[in-house]
Amino acid sequence: MKKVDQEINTDAITAITNTRVFDGERVIKDRSVVIEGMHIRSVGGAVPAGATIIDAKGETLMPGLIDSHVHTDVNGLRDALKFGVTTELDMQGHWSAKQRKEVSERNDIADVRSPGMGITPKGGHPTQYMTSSNNLLIRLLFPFFFRFVQTPDEAVKFVDKQVAEGADYIKVFIEDGSTVGFPGLPVLDDETLRAAVKEAHRLNKMAIAHVTTLKGGQQAIAAGVDGLAHLFFDRQPTPEFVAAISSSGAFVIPTLVTISTAVGNNASALATDKRVSSRLSRKWLESLSRSANVYPQGNLNDVYAGVMALHKAGVDILAGCDVSDPLPILGGLAHGASLHNELQLLVAAGLTPIEALRAATATPARRFGLGDRGRIAPGARADLLLVDGDPTTNISDTLSIRAVWRRGVQLTPRFN
Ligand SMILES: [Zn+2]
Repeated sequence: MKKVDQEINTDAITAITNTRVFDGERVIKDRSVVIEGMHIRSVGGAVPAGATIIDAKGETLMPGLIDSHVHTDVNGLRDALKFGVTTELDMQGHWSAKQRKEVSERNDIADVRSPGMGITPKGGHPTQYMTSSNNLLIRLLFPFFFRFVQTPDEAVKFVDKQVAEGADYIKVFIEDGSTVGFPGLPVLDDETLRAAVKEAHRLNKMAIAHVTTLKGGQQAIAAGVDGLAHLFFDRQPTPEFVAAISSSGAFVIPTLVTISTAVGNNASALATDKRVSSRLSRKWLESLSRSANVYPQGNLNDVYAGVMALHKAGVDILAGCDVSDPLPILGGLAHGASLHNELQLLVAAGLTPIEALRAATATPARRFGLGDRGRIAPGARADLLLVDGDPTTNISDTLSIRAVWRRGVQLTPRFN
């Protein structure tokens, strides 16, 4: 991978003036932000002499967005950045510590964090996608990428290896297949799951669980996980379980866009939106227009009610879309674009636009220990998104992208 640090001119000073500023938590009274090199130099106050001035009247500046659930590669990171998603949190993928360091020093693609591969038993989720693939190479090669875990001892060894290889957190799969079109998949037993979570915590790493059923959610919370990578969607959480999630301190990444496509919706309205179609390849636009439809008996309104029950109980809600590859079975999603769609669905569920924006900025930064980003404040990284209009009152304005900065480097020419 090519390094592009040299693109950062450490002396360059840019002042964005006359703008509304959402700082990651709220709209603040200051109307200007000064970028110097890779960082935010000041918020409000005088514009330094010699600064390049961007008059952003009628526009809103906010922290670069964080997508808390993806499966990505360099191409995915490139698409993400075009949509102002400056950090993607991978939830299982082939990312070595060396590759992640290289990505962290580029300004033309989004940054990434990753657990490496997740923990699953032999034949467990998501290997059914590989065994049923039309691609012979994938069918033959996938056993070499997965190290299956059957026992507590194996779970401890797996976690140790992942952390030694530089995992940022640990991912575990709890999936019986009933909601993803492959009923009867094997699931880790409670003891093995607990051993994995305990070892992750011993090594100061979070454990995040894939779940799609209430039962899986209960198993995950009982095992002490730090977060759910999906909100389960086979039934609504009981009030008792909402209270249990809240008192456990776990966060939830609902992935409403993934649930929406699972229950039969597609995102073709998004795919035909010029603000989206101008930034994606035909392959991804076609994928976005398809629906996975693997759980048509599901009800998105029930899932919305679950999100609101958790939110009202004080559970941190993080925005993530679970996009991976443009496979026929995984339609309705695209890197970058789908995070904006997730924000729209969080608002449809009942969050205010500002609460939804927090779920893609300050909240994931806090929960994932990304202390240098997710907010607009002096000293923070200049990962920024400037949009036309006011997404703090009209959430779809997040797609009216004027400019994106990663580490102080502006990605695209400003559209006027
Ligand atoms: Zn996922």
